[in-house]
Amino acid sequence: MPDMSPQVTELIGYNREFAAAFHDADLQVQPTRQIAVVTCMDSRIDTFAVLGLANGEAHIIRNAGGVITDDVIRSLCLSQRFLGTREIILVHHTDCGLQKVDEAEFRDELAAELGVKPWWSLETFADPYEDVRQSIQRLSMTPFIPHKHQIAGFVYDVTDGVLHEVGLDH
Ligand code: ZN
Repeated sequence: MPDMSPQVTELIGYNREFAAAFHDADLQVQPTRQIAVVTCMDSRIDTFAVLGLANGEAHIIRNAGGVITDDVIRSLCLSQRFLGTREIILVHHTDCGLQKVDEAEFRDELAAELGVKPWWSLETFADPYEDVRQSIQRLSMTPFIPHKHQIAGFVYDVTDGVLHEVGLDH
């Protein structure tokens, strides 16, 4: 094993302070608000703070874009069927990294460099509102998620912290 990087060493130091004051030992595995949040991995979104959530209250599922991929469906399936969640909140955001990449160029670049095209889609998009609607549409079409009556979609503005609700039809 190589030595830990200075950053990891620093963070492990913070963990020891965190653990010394740990107070979540009694939390249950089922989220108490029965909510699953799907959002982007963007480093500016503090999901718990944005929604006023506390530890133990919700599942947070993140990837690049907060896209509904097969793996997100896998997580939501477990979340609803085994861990009792009933509502889904989708949070996409302004200034997303996926708005800055051209998918076709990206694929060609990888194919030229690696000799293989990615077998997954990067899922780039232009309009975060349209992308939330796309996500809701995908959720509505999967048989693996039984509870679909409470799905809310939002776009988070990274410049002021406001969540904007996404209507289904504009
Ligand atoms: Zn993003």
